[in-house]
Formats: sequence, C-alpha cells, structure tokens
Amino acid sequence: MTFHPSSKCRHCGTDLDLLVADLGATPVSNDYILAADRFAPERHYPLRAYCCRTCRLVQLEDFKKADELFREDYAYFSSVSSSWVAHASQYADAMSKRFGLSSTSTIVEVASNDGYLLQFFKAKSMQVLGVEPCKSVADYANHEKGINTRIEFFGEEVGRKLAAEGYQADLTAANNVLAHVPDINDFVAGFREILKPEGVATFEFPHLLNMIALNQFDTIYHEHFSYLSLIATKRILASQGLRVFDVEEINTHGGSLRLFACRADAAHPESPSVAAVMAKEEAAGLGEDAVYASFAARVVETKWKLLELLIDLKRQGKKIVGYGAPAKGNTLLNFCGVGHDFLDFTVDKSPQKQGMFLPGTRLDILAPEAIDAARPDYILILPWNIKDEVMEQLSHVRDWGCQFIVPIPVPAVI
Ligand SMILES: [Zn+2]
Repeated sequence: MTFHPSSKCRHCGTDLDLLVADLGATPVSNDYILAADRFAPERHYPLRAYCCRTCRLVQLEDFKKADELFREDYAYFSSVSSSWVAHASQYADAMSKRFGLSSTSTIVEVASNDGYLLQFFKAKSMQVLGVEPCKSVADYANHEKGINTRIEFFGEEVGRKLAAEGYQADLTAANNVLAHVPDINDFVAGFREILKPEGVATFEFPHLLNMIALNQFDTIYHEHFSYLSLIATKRILASQGLRVFDVEEINTHGGSLRLFACRADAAHPESPSVAAVMAKEEAAGLGEDAVYASFAARVVETKWKLLELLIDLKRQGKKIVGYGAPAKGNTLLNFCGVGHDFLDFTVDKSPQKQGMFLPGTRLDILAPEAIDAARPDYILILPWNIKDEVMEQLSHVRDWGCQFIVPIPVPAVI
C-alpha cells in the first residue's frame, strides 16, 4: 500500500497518483559529507516519481524549494569535462551552419555555466549572453572567460526583460536544465519571449524512453524534478506558444533528445523525425498507464536481486568494494540499503570527492589506489554507463581473481 501525496502535476494540475518509482526517503544525492560532518545528522527527503495521467509528465512530488537544492559549495564547472566541451563545439558548428548564423546573430544560453558553450559562438564574432543562477560559475564566465553572463533564474519575466534590452535571440540553448526546473511552464514561456520571430530554441535532456527501457531508476534524484518524453515536452512547449519542429536522438547521459522549437507561427517546416520519435514512444507504451506501473514493480525486483547477490557473496566471506561516487550511485545504495555491511569503501578519480563520505551510507570515498591495497574479491561499479571504461582501467585486478558487479539494468557479475 503506497501513500500518495496531495501533489498536483506541475504542468497541468492533475492529481498525481500513478507511481513510477518509490525510492523511500533519501538525502540529496549530491550532498557529499565532509569528514568533519561524518557523525552529524543528515536531512532525508521523500524520493518518489509519479506520471501525470493527463499530460504524461513524469515528475517528483513537489515539496521543497529549488534554492535548497542548489548549494553554492557544490558548484560544478562544465569546462572540466573535455567530452562535454567537445559536444558544445560540435553543436556551435552544426547550428551555425544549419541556421545560417553570422556576426549579426544573437545566441542566448540558459544554464550557461562557466561559458563552456558560448565561447564557441563568441569565437565566431556573434553576440552572446549567458543566463546562470549559480553565482560562482557565472562570475568565472564573466571575469575569467569574458562571456557576458547574467545571474538569474530564467523564466517568462526574465525572457521579456532581456529581449527588451536587445538580446532577442536567433538561437537559444538549454542543455540539461529542463529537467531541473521546478516551474516548467514559466521556464518554457521565457523562450517564447526571448526568441526572434524566426528564432530557434534547442533543448537537450535525458530521454525518459531510455530510463524506462533500460531500468535506469537510479537516475532519479532530488535535483531532477522532471523525466521527459517527447509526448510530454511537445505538449508543454505548445501550451506556452512554442512548436517542436525537429528532434534528434543523441548519446549523452545514457541517451538524450535534442529538441528544436520555434514560435507557433514561425515558418520552420516540421521534420519527419518528430512523428518518428512520437511513434517510438507510443510503441513503448509511454502514452499509457501500464508501462509506468510495471516500472515501479521492476525497481523493487532489482533491489531484491542486488541484495540476494550481495548477501550470498557476504555469506561466502567475500570482500566487496565500490567504484565511483556518482549521484546515481547514492540513489541506488540508499534505496537498496547497501552500506558498510556490504561495501568496505568506494573509490573515485575526482580529487574533490576523495576524503569525503557518501550521503546516507557514509561510505568512505578513497583514491582508486585503495583497491590495490585492499585486493577485494568483487567491485560494484556504480557509474554503470561507463562500465567498459572502468573494467578496462582496472583490468589488472583480474590478476588476483577479482570480478565486477554491475547493478543496472539487472544486477550481475561480469
Ligand atoms: Zn500533467
């Protein structure tokens, strides 16, 4: 028996009662614990995803304000990821060519971070403007990279204001931000306000279809308010006067969509790919209730399977450690109740995380060399999306008979 909150859909206001995943109450996945706070208390929040039966927006129940979730001290700088910067460079070239952008064009990016993307448009002599709520990365963009950046939460009013100030956009970019905004209607309305009559808005976000098809329930965490399909997103954009005219399936973040939208009355012809992706989602059942209800059951089954596997190994006296400290790993470990009783520690390549502790489980995050000292029998790979890369890097552990465990899509020893 599941208790349903009185939350309403953040797009259309329908009561939410179709559960997609109940992951219990967990700490915020990115709140790594400092050594000094290791024995201090920690706040837990319910982590439940619902699907709206009317508009099909998959979303977390609404219970806290966005500003509690975006703490300054966990600022992430996009430029540290070389593959992400390369993705941005390719985007700038492709969009400039396709839409005939020139030195008279204006490009606006929302959630522009440290200017990792706009730098490529600036290099083409275009007018650029970043909008970024996180002060530390915005300051870096303004002062270190010379990328004109406003410290704001984007929405209808900000879009209108910036357009009036001369930033009417030929192209807007919004990468991996649509899922993070609490008021999705107001956010989307901002693009209608800031676009030129024939301007183009692009949105990139992880595709719900992959989460459902590949059992990626650990990608659900508090910072992600929405889990987006084309079915739902097209409808949300339309409600705010925007029309989706093209969509691309791209490889980032375990499978994403890039949507191209314009004002409802703009001339951009609709590409056949819009109908094709819609048909793919309909065929997978994303337009009906059943697939969401069966996902909720599969999440529980995955927990049982992982625990059966780990308990069996511990009863045989095996030593197990974790690899990685990604946000999704925290969802998995906290939901499954896998802590010091199963894993001796986890390791992470990022020096910022080493010496800290995982939220909830309080597992130590050590440097990867700790694996060689401990010589475990099994390594549980938390960032399963890069499992091949991890097994390649750690191939030497096979010398002492160590094996790998991957939790998703199905817990297995490989
Ligand atoms: Zn709805």
